[in-house]
Amino acid sequence: MTLAYSFSFVTIWLVGLLGLLLLFPLGVWFFLSTAFNGVDYPLLAAFIVCTILALFGAWTRFWPTIKHLVRAGVLFEGVFTDRFPRTEAELITHALAAYDSGNKSLTTVSHGWSWYLSKQAARGPRLWTTRFTGPVDTDDHLDNVPLHWKSGTTLVEVKKRFKAVGKTVVDTPSMEWLSLGSWISSCSHGHPGTLSIGTSPLHWLESARVLDCETKQISIDDESVLLAKFLSKQTSQISKSSQYVILSVKFKADAVVPNTLVARKGTDVKDVTDVDRWLRGEFIRLIFVSRHKKSLGVVWSRPVGEPVITDEKHMHPHTCSTVCFHCHSDVDAAVPWGGLCGFGATRHNYGGFAELDHAYASISPTFFPFQTILPQIFTVYNLELFLPILPRNRNSRLLFSLIKRLEGFHFENGGRTELRLASDASVLFLDLSTQNLNAVDVYFRLLKAIGLDRGAQHPGKFILASGIAPLREISVASAFRSIANRLDAV
Ligand SMILES: Cc1cc2nc3c(=O)[nH]c(=O)nc-3n(C[C@H](O)[C@H](O)[C@H](O)COP(=O)(O)OP(=O)(O)OC[C@H]3O[C@@H](n4cnc5c(N)ncnc54)[C@H](O)[C@@H]3O)c2cc1C
Repeated sequence: MTLAYSFSFVTIWLVGLLGLLLLFPLGVWFFLSTAFNGVDYPLLAAFIVCTILALFGAWTRFWPTIKHLVRAGVLFEGVFTDRFPRTEAELITHALAAYDSGNKSLTTVSHGWSWYLSKQAARGPRLWTTRFTGPVDTDDHLDNVPLHWKSGTTLVEVKKRFKAVGKTVVDTPSMEWLSLGSWISSCSHGHPGTLSIGTSPLHWLESARVLDCETKQISIDDESVLLAKFLSKQTSQISKSSQYVILSVKFKADAVVPNTLVARKGTDVKDVTDVDRWLRGEFIRLIFVSRHKKSLGVVWSRPVGEPVITDEKHMHPHTCSTVCFHCHSDVDAAVPWGGLCGFGATRHNYGGFAELDHAYASISPTFFPFQTILPQIFTVYNLELFLPILPRNRNSRLLFSLIKRLEGFHFENGGRTELRLASDASVLFLDLSTQNLNAVDVYFRLLKAIGLDRGAQHPGKFILASGIAPLREISVASAFRSIANRLDAV
């Protein structure tokens, strides 16, 4: 299934791209040849085929919602059968009809990234929220910006509105092209620092209105009810089909914070004191553990003293800075022979400043179709574990020992780990990219050996249907309930 998904994903983009790239030179050749020598029929046939491919390329790339169908692996099927409601009334009507026709289940899809990462097509009947976007017409505002949004609205759209009044949403995932509904149901999270509020990835949420297609009732749910509805089963045991559809989402007013200037620092993680320093990162903390026996710690914190912007410590983003950072840190951590540009080679350039909203998004550049095909061509799997840490183990020694072992693992098996930590260090997020799925049980054994014996799989990434043995797989909700010092009871 994963192979079939990757094959069709890559074929669709490459065929379209080929058409777009060849159309101009072939067109010039065809018109010049016709003008001087008359019609050459094989050339005419090639020109017509190329025009059709180019139209296909333009359609899949630029037509609204088509690229989402490609990501969800349902282009040709979905374009004829699927519904893209624009209003809440339409959404409810289609959801209830789809739920009944789908034998009491339906799949809600927004931007399709979770299907892209899991390399699986979305099962029908499907209901799309990509056109169900924008603010809900209520009085919930902060500085004239709405706090209550339709569930298909993207994070990037909400951030844009707050940025205009000097605010941003605290501690968001770096994937900004995700909808608010999928942010909740996939429990996507940011890179918490010590100043991040709350510990669960849903800490920003006041409430969400949820349609239960079974009872046909709408409820207003808080964080704990949403965790129970969407995230209380082991990820390996659930399909993405559900009886619940999130209709609208309301932000907490205190999750919207001033969009201040923050400073970035990159360091080699060579000993426990480096981890201690990294742990003090205020807004963002992440570590890339590479296959080169090196790890790069990055933090974004309040600037020390008056910020002085120089050539070396400049403002981000600027031309290509996000893509360059992503390549140097994330991609190069996994590419053999020291990486394309040398893993962390320009570490001194990691210093610099940005507004907080950019800092939160700085890890993932926009994913263009030509970038998205590479992980499919090179069969890269991206999965993530949420691992609760017992209170006695929440320290830099455990993290340093883990990092050293992960360096050894990646040296032997390739790939890389992106490590993040909940603000109170109670949950560890290990994001693993690997081409070698056969090695993941070595990875899990390594975690168990240092006392991390249970974990949940990120529902918005590649999912191991066989589970994560010898670790005990728990639900995402349990991983975060444990933060309330109830870990031992989970
Ligand atoms: C480049 C990249 C960077 C990423 N960065 C991060 C990161 O920093 N942190 C992180 O945690 N994750 C990250 N992810 C994972 C990403 O956040 C998830 O895959 C997320 O689900 C994508 O959102 P989407 O809108 O494409 O959701 P989709 O894939 O369309 O849907 C995801 C899930 O949500 C459900 N859903 C969607 N809308 C609704 C609704 N209205 N009601 C009920 N259920 C709904 C779907 O059924 C599905 O189960 C990243 C992924 C990529 C590709």
